[in-house]
Amino acid sequence: MTAATIRHDWTRAQVLNLFQQPFMDLLFQAQTVHRANFDPNQVQVSTLCSIKTGACPEDCAYCPQSARYDTGLEKQKLMKVEAVVKEAEAAKAAGATRFCMGAAWRSPKNKDMPYVTDMVRRVKSLGLETCMTLGMLKDEQAEELADAGLDYYNHNLDTSKEYYGEIITTRTYDDRLQTLARVRAAGMKVCSGGIVGMGEEETDRAGMLQQLANMPEHPDSVPINMLVKVTGTPLAENDDIDPFEFIRTVAVARIMMPKSYVRLSAGREEMNEQMQALAFFAGANSIFYGEKLLTTPNPAANQDMMLFAKLGIQPETREEHMSDAQQTAELEQQLTERANEERFYNAAV
Ligand code: SF4
Repeated sequence: MTAATIRHDWTRAQVLNLFQQPFMDLLFQAQTVHRANFDPNQVQVSTLCSIKTGACPEDCAYCPQSARYDTGLEKQKLMKVEAVVKEAEAAKAAGATRFCMGAAWRSPKNKDMPYVTDMVRRVKSLGLETCMTLGMLKDEQAEELADAGLDYYNHNLDTSKEYYGEIITTRTYDDRLQTLARVRAAGMKVCSGGIVGMGEEETDRAGMLQQLANMPEHPDSVPINMLVKVTGTPLAENDDIDPFEFIRTVAVARIMMPKSYVRLSAGREEMNEQMQALAFFAGANSIFYGEKLLTTPNPAANQDMMLFAKLGIQPETREEHMSDAQQTAELEQQLTERANEERFYNAAV
């Protein structure tokens, strides 16, 4: 197998073998695959906007947005299109290339579709890539989103098929897989990953990656979240996952899905800079940027830029904008200003 081999026939034993290698061997292999497929010093940056918050009828045990758990979360109805566009403009000005819009729904209602498709059109017209996560989709809804120009649809598998019932009872693993198949059939890119640290075993982490990598096409984007323990949710008192096991999960995802963007998502707030750097070395090449990751805290944008500066990482720019010298210069200037602001603040403390 070369560093660029795309496989869809992983067995659980093979995936577990990857996980159980000596840590340094695993990291070396992951970094080798990463370098064969991506610029190792570039990280793609997305911003996430919660377009409808809380009061979700589903029972995902990790989620503060479920109406079943008392987490003190302030509910919000579907945002107005104009307000979403403003957030997208701010995200673009801060350097994001992709704008992800998430709604806490089991699935969108048909009456919601004109609003969300309008959001897609308007955000796309700013020159941003668009991503949405709205729950389960019917065939025609997937087609409407694709027609509006939606680039990515996020729908996470969360964990292995075997462990899924411990986390969610209001829909099945197969429901998830069907929505992902509809997204693909409609011609959109797939963003799908999961959460580690929910009390699952290593074989469940392996099972989730096996399921993702054995799809007919690998997800274009694979978010690996570390559980954010929110008071009031059933997983609030869970034990922390060993940070090395988290890094192993990132590395195995990189090896199994060589050309996919592996995204460090929720839980970054809990990771120190060294752990994030190790995750980038293991093959993570996408982050969410901004102060909120849906409803849980995300490291402030300028801290991210400081870390990028320390590591010599460049935020990835969209290819179609590479020739747009003005935009590139503007972005670089903003990033430099942010890094300088942070340095000045540190020096003054
Ligand atoms: S993860 Fe999504 S579907 Fe599950 S409770 Fe939260 S908002 Fe609802």
